Amino acid sequence: MNWEVVESRFEPASGTVFLEIRETTQLWEVVRCPEEGGLVFCYDHTERITWRHLNIFQHRCELTCRLPRGKCRQCGHIFRVRPPWEGLSTHFTKEFEAFALLLMREMPMSKVAAAVGETDTRLWRMLFRQVDAAYAEADFSNVCCVGVDEMSVRKGHEYLSVFADLVRKRVLFATEGKDQETWLKFVEALEKHNGHRQALTQVSLDMSPAYQRGVADHCRNAQMVFDKFHVIKNASEAVDKVRRAEVRLGGEGSWKALHKSQWLWRKNPENLTDQERVRMAQIKDKKLGTAKAYQMRLVLQDIYRSPTAGIARGRFQVWCRWVRWVARFYKAGLLAAMVKLAHLVENHLAGILAHWKWGVTNAFMEGLNSVFSATKRKARGYRSTTHLITMLYLTAGKLRLPQF
Ligand SMILES: [Zn+2]
Repeated sequence: MNWEVVESRFEPASGTVFLEIRETTQLWEVVRCPEEGGLVFCYDHTERITWRHLNIFQHRCELTCRLPRGKCRQCGHIFRVRPPWEGLSTHFTKEFEAFALLLMREMPMSKVAAAVGETDTRLWRMLFRQVDAAYAEADFSNVCCVGVDEMSVRKGHEYLSVFADLVRKRVLFATEGKDQETWLKFVEALEKHNGHRQALTQVSLDMSPAYQRGVADHCRNAQMVFDKFHVIKNASEAVDKVRRAEVRLGGEGSWKALHKSQWLWRKNPENLTDQERVRMAQIKDKKLGTAKAYQMRLVLQDIYRSPTAGIARGRFQVWCRWVRWVARFYKAGLLAAMVKLAHLVENHLAGILAHWKWGVTNAFMEGLNSVFSATKRKARGYRSTTHLITMLYLTAGKLRLPQF
């Protein structure tokens, strides 16, 4: 026994139990100089320090100790002996940190702070240290299938690029921005953790040119897969553009029909409520471009049910021709967004069809979206990118953090 509890004291005013700890003489048999491992004797003691520990029943519990400082017999180096209960932050014990981490996975930081009676600043600092330490140890040596997606930090402004291991279903890396530079930063991180850029065989991404250039520049062995989730998302965005154009160009009749309807078009027919179904039927009677664009999105979505890539290829080609044909019967430019999407699909067809080869791994890409919203909820009120990235690594990085 190198340490012992010499006093326990209950302070009724604060409802706190204090456990006073002191080192035993045996400690000096095991402590060695951190410089060269020389024998050490007790030099002096620090002021009293406290560490928050797990509650004893409903009572807050703190360990207190005047930590010994050792002096090396050989080199004279004087140092503070590190107590075995201390966590990575100087205010908490290891057990308390593990417990707080457990809560942080489940609820927003402000709620954790209130629940354990600590300031959020202290808790964040602890989380930063824990995640930094665990992330430094993370191993990316088997990473071969990677997906990238953007996460908005503030609506429409700042973005994070998030890179995920699609096989092990974990977030590997996140960084500010969404340009091709982010790829360089990612491959550097990958290789710092024993991965290799040329070991990547599949990269799942949206059809934005920046990410594609990043892959082409740095990971030449990787096949680009434009995953289903992003293609459908593009289609939904195109429908929304058509709706806005129609509200602008279409006169009073279409304005009335489309007023406050944007959420309607983002749903699939089977998810509409009865009320929405009635509304949708009324709008459809008016032969609006928006309804047509919506139908195009549904057909595109249905192509993903094709059993083989060959069948899907034919249907995608027919779809593109159909979109362009139909667009000619609407007011100039009304369906422009859909026509643009048809071009995009044609130009990225090989990568889109790769879905049939790699289908399974892409499920995680869509799941990332809910990971993002959960992360933002947990870091609510602290939208700095460092806070968000740290919270993302905690919840989705599968890091080896202390278990409670
Ligand atoms: Zn020494």
